[in-house]
Amino acid sequence: KLAKKAVKRAWSEASRMSSFQDIVGRLRTSFNSGKTRPLEYRLSQLQALAKLIEENTEAMNQALAQDLRKPAFEAEVSETSMINTEINLTVNNLKTWMKDEYVEKNWATTLDTAYIRKDPFGVALIIAPWNYPIHLLLIPLVGAIAAGNCGILKPSEISTNTEKLMADLLPRYLDQDCFAVVCGGPQETTELLENKFDYIFFTGSPRVGKIIMTAAAKQLTPVTLELGGKNPCFISDGCDPKITANRVLWSRFFNAGQTCTAPDYVLCTKQMRDLLLPAMRETLVEFYGKDPQQSPDLARIINDKHFQRLKALLESGTVAIGGGYDEKERYIAPTIMIDVKESDPVMQEEIFGPILPILTIENVDEAIAFINRHERPLALYPFSPDNKVVDAVLARTSSGGFCGNDGMMQMTLPSLPFGGIGNSGMGMYHGKFSYDTFSHHRAVLLRGTGMEKLNSLRYPPYSERNLSL
Ligand code: NAD
Repeated sequence: KLAKKAVKRAWSEASRMSSFQDIVGRLRTSFNSGKTRPLEYRLSQLQALAKLIEENTEAMNQALAQDLRKPAFEAEVSETSMINTEINLTVNNLKTWMKDEYVEKNWATTLDTAYIRKDPFGVALIIAPWNYPIHLLLIPLVGAIAAGNCGILKPSEISTNTEKLMADLLPRYLDQDCFAVVCGGPQETTELLENKFDYIFFTGSPRVGKIIMTAAAKQLTPVTLELGGKNPCFISDGCDPKITANRVLWSRFFNAGQTCTAPDYVLCTKQMRDLLLPAMRETLVEFYGKDPQQSPDLARIINDKHFQRLKALLESGTVAIGGGYDEKERYIAPTIMIDVKESDPVMQEEIFGPILPILTIENVDEAIAFINRHERPLALYPFSPDNKVVDAVLARTSSGGFCGNDGMMQMTLPSLPFGGIGNSGMGMYHGKFSYDTFSHHRAVLLRGTGMEKLNSLRYPPYSERNLSL
């Protein structure tokens, strides 16, 4: 019986592998035909993507509600409208971005033409996580299309309803010769990665990021890794407690804390913490009412595994606000924890849920030292009425992005690059940065055939050359 099972598994693996090979082969043939290169083609695919969103916003909101009970407002601002902004910006600027960039020359090339041509890489693989399952699949796709690539999209298998919807919709709107969706989890992705891609754009955890980079290394495929980690939030003395509470808690509890750029923990003095706690209590009632479980504006935890993980984290320190949960609904109340130590479990991993620990420090220097003792985060949020304090944190730390006196707002600007550093990732995207990420910057020098006398200066025998020239 076991042998039969093993044969069946091997057979389905083999048939999947060959179907993945077929898909990659089909896309590569299309890419090599030059089909994706003209501006008009790229615009047509971007417009098709805009149409997909326009005609299916309701279905997307529903899928997001089924997967995460994501409130429609949050789905709108963080998924569909952000994708639309990226598409509009790209459609309006693509012609300019695609222009060859003429560069400075030296005396030896003064009569030649030198420029940078933005070439597509070829067949790109985009792998997305479950927390913003449409945004994180389609915003990279906008960049891939804009730069003239073909693309395979691998949505997260964990956000199952959105995965199904994307697999159904994308082939109906995009050119199937050039774009495809592959579904599945680690097993399927591992098999898919056996194929050679020309670019891999991965969003997910640092753990899987390392697996992806190892697979890419075997083929020398360039990668962008958009990863996660613990984003510090430093709140200096003198901040307005209520405004700070509003901004920190909005960014922490948006999507029930399942956001890669959410503030993961707060560092502040004991005095500031004692001012913040009543303000936070008030904010939570304003945001979600007296019983947050009844609020339509609070998402749920994606699955049981993450629910159990978060429930266990509630054991670290003391619950100051919240702390309730309901397993049936995968609900965890917005929770503020105090008396948390740096060595507690909640400080050992990215929380990725509606829990916010507050750790006390003495001053900004201690906060900076704390931040610098840990992996470089995706985002860093200092709050202070004194710009010098915000500047000091900016100057003496390192992070993918940075926002003074708010949380997450830096990522709403497509004019800013979005990406991590160190453990939080490598590479960047959004707006023109996406176009550049998915483009190979090809150095082109076009020489004339004249002026051979001048050119002969570089030919051997060198003994006859006057180096002072
Ligand atoms: P994950 O790393 O578990 O999964 C991401 C993708 O990788 C999924 O499509 C999954 O199917 C695939 N995958 C999982 N295991 C694999 C394996 N062994 N081999 C090959 N592929 C595999 O991440 P997740 O749980 O979906 O998302 C949460 C993580 O993503 C958090 O760390 C979060 O911070 C991070 N994240 C980062 C960003 C960003 O923009 N930097 C955005 C959202 C989420």
